[in-house]
Amino acid sequence: MKVCKFGGSSLADAAQVNKVIDIVLADPARRIVVVSAPGKRNSGDTKVTDLLIALADAAQGGGDVEAPLAAVVDRYASIAADLKLDDAIAKGIEADLRGRLAHREALAPAEFMDLMKAAGEDNNAKLVAAAFEARGKKARYASPRDTGMVLKGEFGDATLDPDSYTKLSKAFSNFEGIVVYPGFFGYTKDGKVATFPRGGSDITGSILAAAVCADVYENFTDVDSVYPCDPRIVEEVKQGEGIPTMTYREMRELSYAGFGVFNDDAVIPAVKARIPINIRNTNHPSAPGTMIVQSRRVVPGTVVGIASADGFCNIVVEKYLMNRQIGFGRRLLQVLEEAGISYEHMPSGVDSQCVVVKEQFLPKDREHKILAAIRAELAPDFVMVERDLTMLMVVGEGMCYTPGMLAKACLALASVGISMSMVNQGSSEVSFMIAIRSQDRDAAVRALYHAFFGKGQQAT
Ligand code: ASP
Repeated sequence: MKVCKFGGSSLADAAQVNKVIDIVLADPARRIVVVSAPGKRNSGDTKVTDLLIALADAAQGGGDVEAPLAAVVDRYASIAADLKLDDAIAKGIEADLRGRLAHREALAPAEFMDLMKAAGEDNNAKLVAAAFEARGKKARYASPRDTGMVLKGEFGDATLDPDSYTKLSKAFSNFEGIVVYPGFFGYTKDGKVATFPRGGSDITGSILAAAVCADVYENFTDVDSVYPCDPRIVEEVKQGEGIPTMTYREMRELSYAGFGVFNDDAVIPAVKARIPINIRNTNHPSAPGTMIVQSRRVVPGTVVGIASADGFCNIVVEKYLMNRQIGFGRRLLQVLEEAGISYEHMPSGVDSQCVVVKEQFLPKDREHKILAAIRAELAPDFVMVERDLTMLMVVGEGMCYTPGMLAKACLALASVGISMSMVNQGSSEVSFMIAIRSQDRDAAVRALYHAFFGKGQQAT
């Protein structure tokens, strides 16, 4: 069985909904269809979830709700009309939204916001199920409440209660036909609607894939496959081949450095259950997409992708004979721990220790205090914060045991006059990381792309 998830752009209008139905019907294994709320139809458009947030804000602020309510209802009404569905669908959605709005007084603001946001996916799942029926295909809407999608934690940032798996897999142990399931939300133990973070329909799909031990979790979006680097930086990557297969480890490393494949949290359930993930294009369903799997055949000396993430800074601490001082590193980290700063990497020299942290945790106005605490604790010879760093990440299982991979990257950067602030490679050898000044990012990514994927270079 396959669980397939369709994002908002795949369901933005009636033509897209019909494509989704064609895709599902083309493969009888596609039995569980997880849907997002309708997304943007064009770059100037607004996602239904954002319209719902505006509606909830208007209601909370005591403003007029009729205009923002009509904006949401109109989106569904036009999709339903174009699909020639019964008028009752749009009327039912309006009634549903008015029913939710009526809970405003009784709920805390965050609870009310989640109740409203969840309406996007919930109503869309009902609409898509009706669209299947209108085409003479049996499909039914399944409710997260009835199937046991129990969430915990904060509203708007909820996580799955792990006990849900038993109930979810029971709910899907023996079902007929196609089920359309709303993504993005579930219910707390005391029956309140709670949502995952934004983009959370991916999480729902991943959870269901794990719960039913799916053969594959298909995630339909609007790209043919995952590109080996950011096409906004290297335009020509679109002309080349996408990544056909990558491992969970490779995906994790790439998404750490800002690869927009998935947010890591979204795929944890599928990864833990070892379910292969297939990223595919709703607008080009014949393209095989990118498979993400536990292990793959690896060509030695090849890489799968090059990622870059901005917003890092580096705390540099130097002290003569530091290497002989037991506990130096622990005390340095303790200063950061006490300040609530999580660290990313810790490259070191003989008498120097660097701690790379995200700039958001060490904004300029905190710097003075943190450096003072480091001075007081460790009496270093020198301490400073280097800012505006970008992490470049070169990733590929094929790099293991292959000499010269890092040399190739260094040469490529040297050839465009870029100096490196830090280099870091874990012993897994599945990636290495190079810190550079953020102003050099685009040139660096281009240079690395040409070095590893340019003409005459390896292809994975
Ligand atoms: N509709 C929600 C959002 O826009 C969830 C999703 O699409 O995955 O964030």
